[in-house]
Amino acid sequence: MDLGISGKRALVCASSKGLGLGCAEALAEAGVDLVMNARGSDALEQAAENIRKTYGVSVTTVACDITTDEGRAKVLDAAGQIDILVTNAGGPPPGLWSDWDRDDFIAALDANMLTPIALMKALLPAMIDRGWGRVVNITSQSVKAPIAVLGLSNSARAGLTGYVAGTARQVAAHGVTINNLLPGIHATDRAVSLDTGVSSQQGISLDQAKAQREATIPAHRYGTRQEFGATCAFMCSQHAGFMVGQNILLDGGATNATL
Ligand code: NAP
Repeated sequence: MDLGISGKRALVCASSKGLGLGCAEALAEAGVDLVMNARGSDALEQAAENIRKTYGVSVTTVACDITTDEGRAKVLDAAGQIDILVTNAGGPPPGLWSDWDRDDFIAALDANMLTPIALMKALLPAMIDRGWGRVVNITSQSVKAPIAVLGLSNSARAGLTGYVAGTARQVAAHGVTINNLLPGIHATDRAVSLDTGVSSQQGISLDQAKAQREATIPAHRYGTRQEFGATCAFMCSQHAGFMVGQNILLDGGATNATL
């Protein structure tokens, strides 16, 4: 399917690996020029070079922490005109409700709520002026059903979801859509780190921890970054112009709910 976005320019945050990389690759396949970001420059440059070679699109890289004011200023400076924004950053660490203090919440809110909001505030006005734009925020299945050990993530992402619900409806008349993409477990470094936590907590191997988790998913497997990226690219396409303020769950059926 032609997504109708060839020649557009996208900023994909936190995209040297994992789900962000999947989104960058799928957008590049649709002919979209990219601005890619991550903190570590080696993996970022490698990912950007692979994408240039494979898809022939232009890729600008900005190595910095997207959750800081300085990092965002650097990215926005290099970005130029952006038609498509995919927000993403690392997820907060797991723990118990009693572990977290104010500083932990502030860090989680900065990374997973206030950073995407700041990027939207910076980029929406020009999208509105041009009468076209797409924003996809990578959040989590924890928005639909809490994951108890990820209380910091549950809290910060709920805040972003509330902001998007209202804002998406304020900008939709200008041809700009904002939606959230909610990953369940996907085979990325983040999944390895979560499974490593379970493995050491329960005294089982990493493979056992993964198998245990897979058994709880109706699809009996983890998602792939390619599946995730393809869904993101569709949400950024011309065909998704009537999708406004939605929370699209990709979790292999793990969230046991009818709606
Ligand atoms: P990942 O495999 O660990 O990749 C994270 C990517 O983000 C890397 O490219 C990393 O590069 C970059 N990054 C992390 N923090 C950054 C920062 N502050 N500034 C700029 N770049 C940053 O993670 P993932 O699995 O793709 O997860 C992406 C998001 O989805 C996370 O918020 C995660 O909590 C959420 N999520 C993931 C899953 C899953 O199963 N994978 C499920 C639910 C929710 P550097 O380290 O070099 O910066």
